[in-house]
Amino acid sequence: MRKIISLGIVLTIFIYLLPVGIQYINDNSKSSFMQDMLSVHASAEIKDDEMITVSVDGKAEQISLEDYITGVVAAEISPDFPVEAIKAQAVAARTYAVYKMRAGRSDTHPDADVCDDFHHCAAYTPLTEKAASWGDNSENYQNTILQAVNDTKGLIVTYENQPIIAVFSAASGDMTESAKDVWGSDIPYLVSVESKGGDACSKYKETITFTADEFRNIIQKAIPSADLTGKPETWFTNSERSSAGGIKTVKLGSVQVTGTDLRETLGLNSTNFTVSTSEDSISFHTIGYGHGVGLSQYGAKYLAEQGQTYDQILTHYYTGTQIKSLDEISE
Ligand SMILES: [Zn+2]
Repeated sequence: MRKIISLGIVLTIFIYLLPVGIQYINDNSKSSFMQDMLSVHASAEIKDDEMITVSVDGKAEQISLEDYITGVVAAEISPDFPVEAIKAQAVAARTYAVYKMRAGRSDTHPDADVCDDFHHCAAYTPLTEKAASWGDNSENYQNTILQAVNDTKGLIVTYENQPIIAVFSAASGDMTESAKDVWGSDIPYLVSVESKGGDACSKYKETITFTADEFRNIIQKAIPSADLTGKPETWFTNSERSSAGGIKTVKLGSVQVTGTDLRETLGLNSTNFTVSTSEDSISFHTIGYGHGVGLSQYGAKYLAEQGQTYDQILTHYYTGTQIKSLDEISE
């Protein structure tokens, strides 16, 4: 039986993945080609033996949900992470897929539930294909991923008995960001929580420096009304930060911009940055890698190393949620 559920919410979710070595991370950023308006208007029962239609290289393919999740996990997280962290990733990936299946197909790919474009849905590489790049560890890593997916078969993260929008990123700062601060959508389970272990990510702290001319050229294209006359030290004013440290808004050459927009325009690792200047240069010092909302992959690694299990990790990062089987939520 199909259930029609109106959640009465319209969410703008930006899914964007950045390559980190052999892994991809689900990241969110605001750019025209990666925007997708998700309007939840209906939901259908989804079983764990369900087939999902995946647009692979632009061609729709039917794959079992669990095989799809295996390919997403293979593409999204380092296979040498502790298995409980990989299980957390598997459940987050499954939850996101189920959310998309229930939400209805996107105009971007009306013939498929999800696509393999990391800018839009999630990276997906069949496990055996991905394993070819793992060398001597191939068998080991494949077994770990298969175990992580199989041990969590059919499990998703729920809030009020519904699958959540299980966004994740590589490494947040000391606290995760809230969806409200990053995207302006107040989502009760995507609020700021403590997050340790991000500093194990090689990109946790990074500095990008632009010459004043380089910076002016980039900004003049993106924000033509910004006045960048004068010295670099006068360009940024009135910054407003989230409680987690990310820039919510800042004035750049007298024009108010969001941290998310600036991050996209400048290619910064995160919105959690400070600025330093010299006579003719400007530097951005970032903390964290990714939007910092929801599950932190390096945070999951840290908690797993502290002995926490995947369900403890997930309910820590997604506030007020419960792990349930697909059978339970379709009852
Ligand atoms: Zn897609």
